[in-house]
Amino acid sequence: MSKPICYSTKAFSTTSATSPLSAAVIERRVPTATDVQIQILYCGVCHSDLHFARNEWHFTEYPAVPGHEIVGRVTTVGSGVTKFKVGDIVGVGCLVDSCRTCPNCRTGLEQFCDNGMVMTYGSMDKHLGTPTLGGYSQSIVVTEDFVLRMPANLNPAAAAPLLCAGITTYSPMRHWKVGPGQKVGIVGLGGLGHMGVKFAKAFGAHVVLFTTSPGKVADGKRLGADEVVVSTDEAQMTAQAGSFDFILDAVSASHDINAYLNLLKRDGNLVLVGAPEKPLPVAAFPLLFRRRSISGSLIGGLPETQEMLDFCGQHNITSDIEMIRMDQINTAYERMLKSDVKYRFVIDMASLT
Ligand code: NAP
Ligand code: ZN
Ligand code: ZN
Repeated sequence: MSKPICYSTKAFSTTSATSPLSAAVIERRVPTATDVQIQILYCGVCHSDLHFARNEWHFTEYPAVPGHEIVGRVTTVGSGVTKFKVGDIVGVGCLVDSCRTCPNCRTGLEQFCDNGMVMTYGSMDKHLGTPTLGGYSQSIVVTEDFVLRMPANLNPAAAAPLLCAGITTYSPMRHWKVGPGQKVGIVGLGGLGHMGVKFAKAFGAHVVLFTTSPGKVADGKRLGADEVVVSTDEAQMTAQAGSFDFILDAVSASHDINAYLNLLKRDGNLVLVGAPEKPLPVAAFPLLFRRRSISGSLIGGLPETQEMLDFCGQHNITSDIEMIRMDQINTAYERMLKSDVKYRFVIDMASLT
């Protein structure tokens, strides 16, 4: 494969699992006929960025550039681009390409592409033959089919986290039809969890937030939870036993999921979206009794991501964010590890000069 013509753009990258992120210059392809070039304005900070930067999932190649909650302005469009024009405010989430021909791609589930989705970072770039580099950078080039329209009424910085935290919580709740009359639990009030609370409420469910942080109880209610349970309090947990239709587990670290399986009703379902480094032990009995299920869900495909963004535009849903400068990313990671995020860091990319 001959390497396409490239240009240089500034970024923040890391060179090993134990190095801090620091300023770097990376190469992007010059847009082809079907590409959109985007000046990145804001990039959300997902816990996956941290897992990936520190090789907690054991596939990171260095130097690595995380970032997959990208909102920016279109600066160039290829001659064949029909959906976007220069100046549009657009989004890019966790995917930048897929085979587009397998049954999953054809049904808009590109995240399950049989031939391998191309993630925004950490996948093999089909054009350059090197690992893809994410949104902690000044610009990105993406094929138009993987670029999303941002609703004009939403604050673009607060909408950036919708591109991962939003779709990752929206998709399983749509798939398992969360709605009125159901009791829904959200475990962990971080970036994903706080979007999960907002969507479960918007879908009409009775929403119970589980948090390990007593200091987040008031925020949980403000964000839409009908009840907040401090999960370290055994009496509060026992009071919820056998009462949930659906629980979304958005915890980034090791924890006891059996405690949550016990809270499900007959045929209730616990969906894991959190992706901790180490396996989570599952006891048989909580599953056997009451025929409970445990499932997982991965981000969402392009059509559903656009549907989610449009839903957020209609219902005025965005993320609660704390804006940071690019050079504050290492401190932000440390705060994220202490569950000290309210509720998503977003990088102001203008700070990367
Ligand atoms: P986050 O903002 O750091 O939130 C995680 C929350 O989990 C924390 O705020 C905390 O909430 C709770 N928590 C942390 N450590 C805990 C522990 N030891 N025991 C119990 N609770 C704990 O992370 P995020 O960005 O929302 O991501 C959450 C997870 O989802 C990560 O593993 C990430 O990689 C994964 N993820 C998966 C997908 C997917 O497609 N499935 C997509 C994006 C992210 P409280 O303070 O309320 O307890
Ligand atoms: Zn993410
Ligand atoms: Zn495919």
